Amino acid sequence: MNSSIERLLKFFTLEVERDFDNRAVLGGLDQMLAPWKEDAKSSGVSDEMIEVVTSRLRDYPKLSALSRKDVLQGVWNRVRKAYPDVPPFPGSGNEQEEQTAEEPPVQEPTVKQEAPVNQQVQDRVPKESVQLEKLSSETTEKAEVQEVQESKEVQSAVKSEKKDSTPPANPIALSAPLTTLSGVGPKTAKTLEKLELHDLGDLLYHFPRRYDDYSQLKPINRLWYGEEVTVIGIVDRISVRPIRKGKTKLIEAFISDGTGTLKVTWFNQIWITKRVQPGRGVVLSGKIDQYLGKLVMNNPEWELLEQKNLHTNRIVPVYPLTSGITGKWLRRIVHSVVTHMAPRVPDPIPQEVLEAANLDPLNLALQQIHFPDSAETLKQAQQRLAFDEMFFLQLGVLQQKSVWEQLETTPIPVPDDWIDSFVSQLPYKLTNAQSTALNDVLKDLASSKLMNRLLQGDVGSGKTTIAAAAIARTAAAGAQAAFMAPTSILAEQHYLTLQDLMPKVGVHVDSIKLLTGATPESERREIHEGLENGSVSVLIGTHALIEAPVIFKELALAVIDEQHRFGVHQRALLRAKGNNPNLLVMTATPIPRSLSLTIYGDLDLSIIDELPPGRQDIETRVLSPRESTRAYNFINSQVEKGHQAFMIYPLVEESEKVSSKAAVDQFETLQEKIFPSLNLGLLHGRMKPDEKESVMRAFREGVHDVLVSTSVIEVGVDIPNATVMVIEGANHFGLAQLHQFRGRVGRGEAKSYCLLIPDSEDDVANERLNALESTNDGFQLAEMDLKQRGPGDFLGTRQSGFAELLLANLTDIQLIEKARRQALGVFEKDPDLDLPEHKLLAEKVQQLWSYGRGEIS
Ligand code: ADP
Ligand code: MG
Repeated sequence: MNSSIERLLKFFTLEVERDFDNRAVLGGLDQMLAPWKEDAKSSGVSDEMIEVVTSRLRDYPKLSALSRKDVLQGVWNRVRKAYPDVPPFPGSGNEQEEQTAEEPPVQEPTVKQEAPVNQQVQDRVPKESVQLEKLSSETTEKAEVQEVQESKEVQSAVKSEKKDSTPPANPIALSAPLTTLSGVGPKTAKTLEKLELHDLGDLLYHFPRRYDDYSQLKPINRLWYGEEVTVIGIVDRISVRPIRKGKTKLIEAFISDGTGTLKVTWFNQIWITKRVQPGRGVVLSGKIDQYLGKLVMNNPEWELLEQKNLHTNRIVPVYPLTSGITGKWLRRIVHSVVTHMAPRVPDPIPQEVLEAANLDPLNLALQQIHFPDSAETLKQAQQRLAFDEMFFLQLGVLQQKSVWEQLETTPIPVPDDWIDSFVSQLPYKLTNAQSTALNDVLKDLASSKLMNRLLQGDVGSGKTTIAAAAIARTAAAGAQAAFMAPTSILAEQHYLTLQDLMPKVGVHVDSIKLLTGATPESERREIHEGLENGSVSVLIGTHALIEAPVIFKELALAVIDEQHRFGVHQRALLRAKGNNPNLLVMTATPIPRSLSLTIYGDLDLSIIDELPPGRQDIETRVLSPRESTRAYNFINSQVEKGHQAFMIYPLVEESEKVSSKAAVDQFETLQEKIFPSLNLGLLHGRMKPDEKESVMRAFREGVHDVLVSTSVIEVGVDIPNATVMVIEGANHFGLAQLHQFRGRVGRGEAKSYCLLIPDSEDDVANERLNALESTNDGFQLAEMDLKQRGPGDFLGTRQSGFAELLLANLTDIQLIEKARRQALGVFEKDPDLDLPEHKLLAEKVQQLWSYGRGEIS
């Protein structure tokens, strides 16, 4: 390696070790530049390299620690390209912690510097880029355009990767990239991407995660221990001393305000001493602590007095962060965007809606949600923005519904005597709720309006019977029906049910086919043929149904079981197999009314809110983590009586891969140590479909006494002889999902049991599970889940739209109803949102629904 390069990198390494305090060279790193330049020249380093090094290091002392690191790393890598024997940068890999990284990863936007253009070669922002903060509100639109255009030109000259030098139509659009901001270069932009922040609009809608109220200004002599306050004072003195064997640097300052003196400390943030200097006024916000009987403030937020209060003396926004971004820096960036953009964002909500719903204008709300003047204005802002989300969602739902309603289809005749014969051949009497649902569904079929119905009913309420009736009727009338289930186990179960039922109501058993991933190729081809020529009238299966070679002659009915298990895309594909087929989707996830109106407002709803008579409640017990032996003993005793058991292994929050492994490990231990004399079966998500199926079949046929499974067993399967459901790690599941698991037992005559074993000793957390002991009502449990865990458990992958709800709370019934009322008003007036005053609104709705539009649940 070249000797002068070697010397240079030695300095760098020292700086890294010193946490970039610019003390590796006496008098600062830039002091070495002139002598180094001479040295490098004479030792043969290229002029270009010398220029890169000197220009990039020139401003080193003025930079933050984080930026210093960036600069050193950039130069280092550059050098390494020219001298391949240079080792990798020593500072990479050890990410700075939040604490020490308090200073922004870029220069403070407020510190103005003349930086040479070639300093920007690698990753720093051109200083010429738009300084949003400096664009005062009285600047004319024209001047801005010009300024932005100029800067764009400079940018394109500097940033070689940006070829497009034509300015965008609206240069200060919300869609402008983050690098438009002064202080954000490509590298910082990359970091911000981790927070899903890509353009200015994203920043404007990057809402605080919480707020700290520092608006309580107090004189020093009236401070109390434990208070969160803001103090204004003058810096008396400030000093730095190493503690913990020099590993940490303690910065101590004394601030006085005429009533008293307060000691303030920070750790490691040496750069603070450059700004908080004796004689200067500072604003400090934080918690009052105590040290050796004296009041102190540790690590307060601070600002110099002359600045507008952003970080202190107000209600301060606290943003979601990622490593490499500090709260203070992000706050400043957001502030410049809010100041500049919030007043210019057009409001998509019509004026009369704003008035009727008593809402803030969007400009105000966007400003106040970031930098609220008071708790009151903050609340108003949150309400306004939450309303928006709910309002767009509801409008989308209404539009969707009207699209469905306009679609026509060939009616399928439903003679009364056919209904009678269907009902009379069932081995049981329909419940009242089933009869009502059956009526709804058959009426839909007989009408020329397309069926778009959600059939909702608790586990075991007998939804399959209703689906079977619709399918049988469609087939009997000479049209085709498809029945899609999320697992092959479930599809096979439905196949058996229909094979048994259909011949009794006029559908030939040979015209019913099962198609799963495990169907052999020859049979598959036969099925495809039969579907095309119409000899197959009912096809039951997994997502194999929607794969390419499947073509129906005339698909008139599509039924989807356990709809929350499917993605929007898969459901759309099934619909697309016919020319607007009738659609029946079923779910056992009981959704509270307020929620179902919002999520499923575009579908007609039938609810089966009654279980068949004679069902015994499943006796449910929550055990403590140490009581698992009791559960094992209980399984043994039930198996002795000729019954079977399920054991569920959890780890829902980890990957299926991890939980499968846990189940495999656990399975071996259980088989060898705990149930050596029983026959155990294992089921997990990483098994091949045919493996799963053979295990399920063996369990159904009684080969296995106990089925050990991951949560894949959740949906649908019906094993009447199973009487025990043991759920390990029960605390990891929502109540509604536990209720689904529980529904796997209690399907036969014998009394059934569910044992929940949390893996945490936390009594308070586990208390939640007691609800399952006291009720078997899925709706009630779902309501509780909604309150405890939010709506996530219910939404599945239905629409991309729900992921976009940042503020709206799906449990806020008042908000939902308000938004719904207003959405209905607008919709009745202008269903397609064609009016010019609804143009923006139409765009917003479209945005939220862009993925789900034209699809159904
Ligand atoms: P789910 O709604 O959970 O899909 P299923 O359709 O699988 O429920 O029905 C559960 C069990 O109840 C099945 O064994 C079915 O045969 C039986 N069943 C359905 N309806 C009735 C009824 N009215 N009376 C008695 N048993 C019924
Ligand atoms: Mg079912």
